[in-house]
Amino acid sequence: MEDTVIPRPTPASLAVQGTQARFPVRRIYCVGRNYAEHAREMGDTGRTPPFFFGKPADVVLNVADGAEGVLPYPPATSDLHHEIELVAALGSGGRDLTVDQAASAIWGYAIGLDMTRRDLQAEAKKAGRPWDTAKGFDHSAVLGPVHPVSSTGSKTSGAISLTINGQPRQSGDLSDMIWSVPEAIAYLSTLFELKAGDLIFTGTPAGVGAVVVGDRLRGEIDGLGALQVRIG
Ligand code: MN
Repeated sequence: MEDTVIPRPTPASLAVQGTQARFPVRRIYCVGRNYAEHAREMGDTGRTPPFFFGKPADVVLNVADGAEGVLPYPPATSDLHHEIELVAALGSGGRDLTVDQAASAIWGYAIGLDMTRRDLQAEAKKAGRPWDTAKGFDHSAVLGPVHPVSSTGSKTSGAISLTINGQPRQSGDLSDMIWSVPEAIAYLSTLFELKAGDLIFTGTPAGVGAVVVGDRLRGEIDGLGALQVRIG
């Protein structure tokens, strides 16, 4: 590899269930408001085209299967929110994918938490400013291991839930998505050329809310095990 004038950053990667090999992360895309009940709680009505935002790839906090991760409470917020989400990990990409091609591009799935500084997001919305500070802070993409689609099958239904300190906070079903995962990926591919290594957070069910230091979050999705993290 050629010399660099500063140390070369280590690319983010995720553990893969059932192997020591890792899944390298290229980009992180997120779908906004993709469950009807959550869209309503955030003020939307009806089926509008999906919209997207991003997080830097290196904000990944990967928690090993069966472990409890620690998410440091981030600065500049007093309203840190949890959003439990199904995450699709792409094994291939392209532009202007059909829905079938988008489905075939999925290499695997993970449980993710799209952590959000909701107070900064509310200020940004009010002022018509970007969401980066609300969504793209360090450790804001909490992820369990990637489960290969070869073992999980296509995830179009199944329970998705989050508890905090054992109390239910978010629950829904993957079949409640306004835009299915392949539909969202197909739409995204009209905006960006997608590539292997891209992660797509596919939206969160209703029940988002604030966490505080010491809280223990446990996210579950049928067939993907559990993602556990403590707010440090
Ligand atoms: Mn989200």
